[in-house]
Amino acid sequence: MNSSGGRRLNTRMASDGPLRAFAGSFPGEVVLPGDDGYDAARFVWNRMVDRRPAAVVRPTATDGVIAALRFARDHDLLVAVRGGGHSLPGLSTCDDGVVIDLSRMHGAEVDAGRRIARVAGGSLLGELDDAAQAAGLVCPVGVVSHTGVAGLTLGGGMGKLQRRFGLTIDNLRAVEVVTADGEVVRASDDENPDLFWGVRGAGANFGIVTVFAFALHPFDGTVTHGVVTHPVERLDDVVALFREAVESGPGESMPTLAVARANGRPVVSISAFHSGSPEQAERDLADLRAYGPPLLDTIDVKPYREAQHLADGEMEWGHRFYMKSAFLRELPADAVTRCAELVAQGPPGVECVLSVWAWGGAIASVPEDGTAFTGREASYWASAEAQWDDRDLDPACREWVWDTAAELMPYALTGRYVNDVAEAGTDLRSVYGEAKFDRLVALKREWDPDNVFRLNQNIRP
Ligand SMILES: Cc1cc2nc3c(=O)[nH]c(=O)nc-3n(C[C@H](O)[C@H](O)[C@H](O)COP(=O)(O)OP(=O)(O)OC[C@H]3O[C@@H](n4cnc5c(N)ncnc54)[C@H](O)[C@@H]3O)c2cc1C
Repeated sequence: MNSSGGRRLNTRMASDGPLRAFAGSFPGEVVLPGDDGYDAARFVWNRMVDRRPAAVVRPTATDGVIAALRFARDHDLLVAVRGGGHSLPGLSTCDDGVVIDLSRMHGAEVDAGRRIARVAGGSLLGELDDAAQAAGLVCPVGVVSHTGVAGLTLGGGMGKLQRRFGLTIDNLRAVEVVTADGEVVRASDDENPDLFWGVRGAGANFGIVTVFAFALHPFDGTVTHGVVTHPVERLDDVVALFREAVESGPGESMPTLAVARANGRPVVSISAFHSGSPEQAERDLADLRAYGPPLLDTIDVKPYREAQHLADGEMEWGHRFYMKSAFLRELPADAVTRCAELVAQGPPGVECVLSVWAWGGAIASVPEDGTAFTGREASYWASAEAQWDDRDLDPACREWVWDTAAELMPYALTGRYVNDVAEAGTDLRSVYGEAKFDRLVALKREWDPDNVFRLNQNIRP
């Protein structure tokens, strides 16, 4: 095994016998170039990514994960690890290497008495939501049900319940990890606590997580949720309403602001999500709903699980996507106005959105240095996002995202959400800050000195 960071890949292996022999004896599925299903297996969520792995290996249990990892290492093949396949820069696939795709290791088991969910490493968010809600419980996760639990959790995990129950990592109690050496270790506050610290924010760097154990909260699953939309001419008032809702609202309330185009014209919306009783929600959302009249008000009482599926369609697989985000200490109306002007001028036919989420609440109750995740002291998270289909528009869409995000940067704090970093090779000091970055490098040297797990926002050993 060549241990240098810049080792050459054994690309000839792709068409050679050893892979076929491995496939023949592997206890799971192996998809090779030329096989039926190879194209479906090699694509990830973001269609900007178009790579051709030597094999996509789908283990059904931890033994298979270890066997696939050992095979790749023995044959000097690059390793990509795939949970839900939603990495924005496509870090869960590769050219010429082995994709260890955990999609056949999925499902969540809930121990209702202990309020713990044991979730397999290839599960999707919807599986955790369904299993927890069946027991009247919940774990806070992201807003699109087909996102992978693994990648989302290992980076942090933002979602509609974050101000009430924290980030997904704040509810993580333990992980089982296959290390670069093919050993199985457990990490929690009591076992390998340093690794557990790093897993919560930079987790894709240290091994393949086969099991996540989450603490769950009692939750009846009734929420008040929907959108109020106004013409962009009311932007200043709507931003003020949003700020007020963020600053004075309880943890149950999770407003988000969006500026987007509808029928070619920019509109500004506040999406309200309230997980308290409908009566409390009505009181807390009264000011928001009284302003206007809005162009649209879809706020209604509904099951949490229904709300968790509402964005699935607009964020379906197969489109091109790019974004840049920041944690903000404040949200000046001037900056939002300039972003709205850029939304209006965005490339025609492209979905150009400025999105701002409420931060704080339970997120801020965890000490900033308690996990590798950096950005808890922010008041807002904001991002410029573009989604489109025509590859010729790639440069214009990237440029629009960078120009729009640049308007927010004067208000940005140290730290970025690693799961939003849409390209590889970013200086991760800007994501984790200097002190945490140094601690992560030390951890990487301990757990993955050969940088076997490098297809991630990579902490180089
Ligand atoms: C449509 C969409 C909606 C999103 N919504 C949210 C949201 O609401 N909240 C939020 O916080 N984020 C959200 N994200 C960002 C999301 O958290 C990241 O894209 C995340 O990396 C996706 O995880 P995944 O398992 O699907 O991705 P993958 O592409 O499978 O993996 C992402 C990274 O994690 C590594 N990895 C995957 N599985 C494992 C494992 N078992 N062990 C070790 N490493 C592993 C991969 O190698 C890769 O580096 C969203 C992304 C998309 C595309």
